[in-house]
Amino acid sequence: MSIHPIDVILHKRDGLALTDAEIRAFILAIVKRTPTRQLVTDAQIAAFLMAVFLRGLDARELATLTEAMRFSGEVAYTEALNTFAIDKHSTGGVGDKTSLLIAPILAAAGLAHPTSDGVPGIVVPMISGRSLGHTGGTLDKLETIPGFNTQLSFPEMRDVLKQCGAALIGQTPTIVPADRILYALRDHTGTVESPFLITASIMSKKLAEGLNALVLDVKVGSGAFMPTYEKSKLLAELMVETGEASGTRTAALLTTMDEPLGRFSGNWVEVWECIDIMRGTRHPMSADLIGLSNILSGWMLHLAGRAATPEEGAKLSDEILRSGAAYDAWLKIVEAQNGDTTVFEDPAAHHKPTATRTLTSPTSGYLSAMDCKQVGWAVQRLGAGRAKPGDPVSAHAGIEMHAKLGDKLEANQPLVTLFSEDPELLNEPEAMLRETLQIAPAPPKLQPLIREVITKVHLPR
Ligand code: URA
Repeated sequence: MSIHPIDVILHKRDGLALTDAEIRAFILAIVKRTPTRQLVTDAQIAAFLMAVFLRGLDARELATLTEAMRFSGEVAYTEALNTFAIDKHSTGGVGDKTSLLIAPILAAAGLAHPTSDGVPGIVVPMISGRSLGHTGGTLDKLETIPGFNTQLSFPEMRDVLKQCGAALIGQTPTIVPADRILYALRDHTGTVESPFLITASIMSKKLAEGLNALVLDVKVGSGAFMPTYEKSKLLAELMVETGEASGTRTAALLTTMDEPLGRFSGNWVEVWECIDIMRGTRHPMSADLIGLSNILSGWMLHLAGRAATPEEGAKLSDEILRSGAAYDAWLKIVEAQNGDTTVFEDPAAHHKPTATRTLTSPTSGYLSAMDCKQVGWAVQRLGAGRAKPGDPVSAHAGIEMHAKLGDKLEANQPLVTLFSEDPELLNEPEAMLRETLQIAPAPPKLQPLIREVITKVHLPR
């Protein structure tokens, strides 16, 4: 007997648990419909989304929805490489460039220990996103490297993985097409914020990479996508549960996003910061970025069996960074994806904003607070981000922070430098930054970088 979309909507509306067959049939109808064959209408999809928003999903329903979405299009079939595939996903932040360090760190670890087939012992098949709203996107950063091709097919990605241990590519219309359709309607129906729909959206795309393990960086704080600690934690728990249900070892770290991570926020400037780190420069403003990257990589090395504990993994990650092996792996990845590595020789020279302005501290005191989301919006308004999907972004726009929360400043000491490719774009971000960067006589109480770890992975004592 065939399943009708209206029955699926009615069951969820009335608070019943959907059967696996109902969920699969609904997702299949979404991706199989054509303009002349409306197996399910936009109105029905919108009603389904609202029913899920209001009623929620139990763990089985969420796992089935995620799985149905994952297989709604092309999957990476990384399993064919017979090695350990792992990735990291972040829920998005300001200046969050950990992917640009983590992919080469893990690639270097994989290249150092190949399988008997000569394939790196660990591979990172990373599908990244673009900037949207107040958060940056890895693809926009990578595309500031001349020639870098993020539009690889899955077979091309597998070739890069075999050769380099990591590949950094973009979403295509054939990867998880169900999410594309659902997300567009969520945006118009007030259903974006459902933790169940967010989990299915994020995890279906990550699991389409064919992963053995996944580490999630779920942000909390004023720059986080989720508005409260409790909501971030629920999202982390749902994502871990869903990853584990699909057979992928999953760990989620709740991490603080109360200020931009590292020294720079923008596009090329973030690549520049990572090149400096991989080439051995340790700028004090990059300490939090290096620390978080090592902790996340440490978890990945632990899940991949390279370190007995996440802490040992973090030490190994730092050694890989300091030895230059991550930089060597990075050069290999960029070359394999057609990027011009000569720009890394002098990254400062490749930074070409046409307008620059430095704001200084109005008084002496401590940098005590900021709305990190507002800092992210200022970066976007400088031209580094986009207001809507498809808008162009500027390669050279961004900011350099000269102080971290808790740092002591003298009056007139540099606080933040703004970069843009259009002098007209400086004034509004300047006002936003002046408003939000607070100087106070006493130091603030700071949150630790790592707030909590959510995992079912057994850790040795
Ligand atoms: N990122 C996604 O990919 N999907 C969501 O629903 C939210 C954030």
